[in-house]
Amino acid sequence: MNHESLTALGERVAAVNDVLNAISCLTWDSRTMMPPGGAETRGRQIATLTGLARDLLLAPETEAALEAAERALESLSPEALAPDAPERRIVAQTRQAFAYHRRIPGHLVTERAALRTVAQAAWIDARARSDFPAFAPYLEKTVALARSYANAVGFTDHPYDAMVAVYEPGETAASLRRLFAGLRIGLRYILDQARARPAPRADFLVRDCAEAEQRVFGLAIAEAMGYDFARGRLDTTVHPFEVSFTRNDVRITTRYNRRYLPASIFGTAHETGHGLYEQGVDPAYTRTTLATDLVGLYAVGGTSFGAHESQSRLFENHVARSPTFWAVHFPGLQKAFPDALSDVTADEFYRAVTRVEPGFIRVEADELTYDFHIMLRVEIECALMDGSLSVSDLPEAWNAVLRRDLDLVVPDDAHGVLQDVHWSSGTIGSFASYTIGNVMAAQVMDALRGEDPSLDASLAAGAYAPLADKLRERIWQHGRRFSREELLVRTTGRGLDPEPYLAYLHGKYVG
Ligand code: ZN
Repeated sequence: MNHESLTALGERVAAVNDVLNAISCLTWDSRTMMPPGGAETRGRQIATLTGLARDLLLAPETEAALEAAERALESLSPEALAPDAPERRIVAQTRQAFAYHRRIPGHLVTERAALRTVAQAAWIDARARSDFPAFAPYLEKTVALARSYANAVGFTDHPYDAMVAVYEPGETAASLRRLFAGLRIGLRYILDQARARPAPRADFLVRDCAEAEQRVFGLAIAEAMGYDFARGRLDTTVHPFEVSFTRNDVRITTRYNRRYLPASIFGTAHETGHGLYEQGVDPAYTRTTLATDLVGLYAVGGTSFGAHESQSRLFENHVARSPTFWAVHFPGLQKAFPDALSDVTADEFYRAVTRVEPGFIRVEADELTYDFHIMLRVEIECALMDGSLSVSDLPEAWNAVLRRDLDLVVPDDAHGVLQDVHWSSGTIGSFASYTIGNVMAAQVMDALRGEDPSLDASLAAGAYAPLADKLRERIWQHGRRFSREELLVRTTGRGLDPEPYLAYLHGKYVG
């Protein structure tokens, strides 16, 4: 529908989206091109622009446009305009974000931005020296600020609920506890059986592979998966990420390790999945609420962090970490690295990149142990937020859970509690999205296979367009119009369900 008030509201949100995209652009630059000396000023620039985006959203003009749009929609019956029509969703989501930011006092926003800059520098230094006490005072401030945020935003049961809602609307400490309880038992069972099997050969994974050829191979698989390089690019970074400045400029990054080929291959496949989601958003949603996270103040087309992660995991693990993928692509890989791979078969390569080996580092974890790292972090974040765990007791608590779950003895805090960037950047509540992404990816794949038995044949032939077409139709095109749970119900007939994920892991790692 066209209505003056919606146009006025649309213009206000478009301006917010523009500022948020400028922030994303500065962030992309800082992580790919910027010399280290620029870090401090860049932090200030981003804080200024974030404040500006928030001010634009909370301006009286936005509120007036919002109220006028609400009045215009109220007068329309559900028959004239469906309850889930884009217009209704735009207005409802803008109202929700408006109410959210209005509850948070401005001084908390400023304090958070200021803390982020110094905490990150302190964390980098503390991690290099494995010195948790040096980082602890910053983490204490971060937790205190997060609690103030939770109190300002409001929650019913647990202060963590207010934090996780930004990344995964609908999830709470209690809902995650339920999800994890079932997952933990299932994963434990599969992990024990998988570990009883003989370890595959993996010596060749650490042979020297030149970066330039790794890049060429990465570009080829991203293109084969359908990533559009006329609307995207692949750059080098330390911690791989994807960022979009509208669907027509979606950038992915990866890292290259000469002595560990899988890092760039699966990193690129992962970020390609994120990139495909953003490139697939309906063009009509560009610069609207449906391509802007107005609560998290982040320009993104994906509907939740978990939904986004489901698409990256799908391409990384279900597509690229499969025997049929390597039956198709291993000859090309072998040709690119004849010295490293001449005595290796496609099957040996697949087995090596799916070997199971519990380790200390989350980002290096295999598919069977990854979620234990997530559950540990969520358990600890909940305890920090409700005060049942103090920052000074954190390393001990961390190490105890890793021993309980994976039977590992953490050698030092750099390999333990200091490994992730998240807390130093003021982020609490985002970890659960990784596991939700794993669960959702398997659920979506299971449903798509069920409705189209020819899907596996096309994947085995190296044709990824049939899969991409389905994902675009069911998920990508909708941007933020539907919630993660709505997308799941529309695609699989039910809400988040760990059963297909456990069945997928069992089939892949136990057989
Ligand atoms: Zn990801």
